[in-house]
This record gives sequence, structure tokens and C-alpha cells, in this order.
Amino acid sequence: MIKSIINGKMIEKLRVLIDHAQHIVITCHVSPDGDAVGSTMALCQVLRNMGKDAHVVMPDRLPRALSFLDAQHDVVPYSKYQARGSYLVRHADLVFCLDFNVLRRIDELGAVIEQSRAPRVLIDHHLDPEDCFDVKISHPEASSTCELVYRVLMQMGCTGYIDTQAATFLFAGITTDTGNLTYSSNDPELYEIVAELLRHNIDKEGIYNKVMNTYSADALRLQGYALDQKMQLYPEKHAALIVLTQAELQHYNYKKGDTEGLVNKPLAIPEVMFSTFVREDKDKIKISCRSQGDDIDVNVICKTYYGGGGHKNAAGGDSHGTIDDVLDIYFKILETIK
Ligand code: 5GP
Ligand code: MN
Repeated sequence: MIKSIINGKMIEKLRVLIDHAQHIVITCHVSPDGDAVGSTMALCQVLRNMGKDAHVVMPDRLPRALSFLDAQHDVVPYSKYQARGSYLVRHADLVFCLDFNVLRRIDELGAVIEQSRAPRVLIDHHLDPEDCFDVKISHPEASSTCELVYRVLMQMGCTGYIDTQAATFLFAGITTDTGNLTYSSNDPELYEIVAELLRHNIDKEGIYNKVMNTYSADALRLQGYALDQKMQLYPEKHAALIVLTQAELQHYNYKKGDTEGLVNKPLAIPEVMFSTFVREDKDKIKISCRSQGDDIDVNVICKTYYGGGGHKNAAGGDSHGTIDDVLDIYFKILETIK
């Protein structure tokens, strides 16, 4: 039995909002991962199956590995189609914000959504969500936003609208945020949800391979280079650090998504408890942190030092300073680790 963990009043409020809405926009965070893409596309598909005019508008484009989920080019990336994205948000009578907790996480699209008078619904599993939502479904203990979307649909009695396509999207998110049911996946009910998705004949193995194990030759070479030449270990701090500069990224013909998963790799060394990846993007420096166990809370670290956040064992942030600025902060963080 899958228990109803979401507040019943929230579900009732949401049901009324959906009943009264016809034009619905669903959005997620920048640099969307499988959970962001999966949850938005799944909810969009279900709402369309319910007869709604629903659209996914994302801050930027899907990474290459996830483009198979949007074969019809149905998703509107705001970075490319601002006029269409703004039009859809302006005409929406309901906006869903999935898999992020602060409007700042969706770049310029956040301002467009702030100006819209449509009610905003948050469905998310990151810690510490902002107070700018009419309905706030925030469950940091959930494996993924996709799990929460399934639970919301279940509690609204709407699972009958889930088809193979929507089930595929939901599994894509669950496999992404749990490392294919490795971490953040000790809740037995998650497997009941996966069992329900499997009943829709999803290609579980194919989805896993495409979402989690698809890289270009350039991307694999970049990751090989990063691990061989750039991984620094600080054994006394049980820490690992990889820094990739813009020049190095360009040398490997870097495309968005090419370094996905890299920050997790050093955690394969049993002694490494804290892994950090610093990437010099064109417009900012992106920082990703991962930890193992209970001792190092990377959500707190990213919030305190890098203006970001996330989860206890997986979080990120960014910097508009130099790599040296980021490294100065990094070594200060290491000093706080016993
Ligand atoms: P990643 O390191 O893979 O980019 O992100 C790890 C986790 O931290 C994800 O759940 C992601 O949503 C969250 N995260 C990454 N960057 C940021 C950020 O700048 N701000 C916040 N609030 N969360 C972030
Ligand atoms: Mn997520």
C-alpha cells in the first residue's frame, strides 16, 4: 500500500486549481536533469490526458542525453524561444514549479513567472523552499520530484491518466535521482511506485541506459582526462576535488551534460567522503558537491559558501568570481572538516 504522505488540504487545493485551469505551464530548474525533465514532461502528459492545454517551458535546453524524451520538440526552452515562453506563461492560469525550491534557480524565466498572476504550485524535494507558492508540496525525504508527482496523482485519484509515455518520464526521473535505485531509495513504497510504472510496459533498461549511461566520445575523453589529470585528493580530509577550466572544456568540445555524473566518481574511493567538481562555464563557475554518510552536509556547505543548495549528500551552487576565489573558499571549507 502506498500511503498518502502529502497533506490532504494541499491536494484538495490543488484539485480545485486544476479543475479551474485550462492553460497550464510547467517549469523546472536550469540545466535540467532527468528528474526535472521527467517530472515536468510526465505532469504535462497527464494534464493533457485530462483535457488541459499544458506546456513545459524550461529555462534552457535539454542536455543531449535526455533529448530522446522530447523527440517531438514539444518542450519550450526559454533561452531559445523567449517570445513563445513568455506568451505561454502570460496566458497560463496555473503554473507548476517542479524540482527546484527558489525562483532564482530558473534564471530570467523566474521574473516572467513572478509577473504572472497565475497561482503557483511547487512540487519538489529540495530542502528549504521559498515562500512564494500558493500550494507548496515540499518533501525533502522523497527520492525525486517524479516520485512526488506520482504520489500527487495517486492522492488526487488521477493515476488512470498515466500512460506509457508518462510512466517513461517518471521512471527517467526516479532512475536519475537515485542512481538507478542505489541511493535515496530505501523507502519500500518507491518500489511499489516503480512496479506501477512497469505495469505500463516501460522499457526500464532502455531508459536507464539512455538517461544514465550515454556519453559522446568527447565527453568520455573529457571525464577520463578529468579523473587522470585533474583529480586532487586530500586524504587527511577525505576529500577529492576536480577543476575544469573553460580552455580544457573547449579542448574536448564540451556540450552541456558532458560532465554529468563526474562529481560522483571520486566517491568510488572508499576513503573519499566529500567530492567537489568546479567547472568554469562561459558565464559563471558551477560548483557541484557530493558527500557520503551523515557527517558532511553539502546542502549547508553550498548554501553557506556558494549561494546554492540541494540535498544533504548532493548539492550545488555557482560563483561569478574567479576559479581562485572559488578555490580559496574550498580550502576554507576543508579546514572546517575534521
Ligand atoms: P548538481 O551538482 O548535479 O548540479 O546538483 C545537485 C543537486 O543540487 C540537485 O538536486 C540540484 O537541483 C541542486 N543544485 C545544484 N545547483 C544548485 C544551485 O545553484 N542552487 C540550488 N538551490 N540548488 C542547486
Ligand atoms: Mn530532483
